[in-house]
Amino acid sequence: MEDCIFCKIVSGEIPSTKVYEDDQVIVFKDLNPVAPVHDLVVPKKHYKNVMELDDKELLNHIFEVIKTVAKQENVAEDGFRIINNCGDFAGQTVKHIHFHVIGGEDLTKHVGMDHC
Ligand code: 5GP
Ligand code: ZN
Repeated sequence: MEDCIFCKIVSGEIPSTKVYEDDQVIVFKDLNPVAPVHDLVVPKKHYKNVMELDDKELLNHIFEVIKTVAKQENVAEDGFRIINNCGDFAGQTVKHIHFHVIGGEDLTKHVGMDHC
């Protein structure tokens, strides 16, 4: 989709630090991490948000990828957050569906995660 930052990351037009990639999903480091691990799990196909994503198999796959990445990033055991902002009132700034995977420290003591 034109003028979509994440579509441009998917196509390689905008560089990113990739953590994982397959034919349907890409995972890369958030540009402004709020914790030691902060990855964005992004389907390659453009959907605006969860209200638009009607592909159940893809949704399943996304959650399998989240688990794979959590193990790869060594946050699976200690715990991590999966965050999805859907729409303006939730603070969704990039209108290409994505799931934040955040961890690497005790997030219950974390302040300043309002934007994510
Ligand atoms: P949202 O607020 O939409 O849930 O999250 C968008 C996230 O994308 C933010 O955490 C922001 O830091 C990240 N982000 C925005 N632009 C870029 C970019 O060009 N590259 C990367 N790696 N992350 C980005
Ligand atoms: Zn897009």
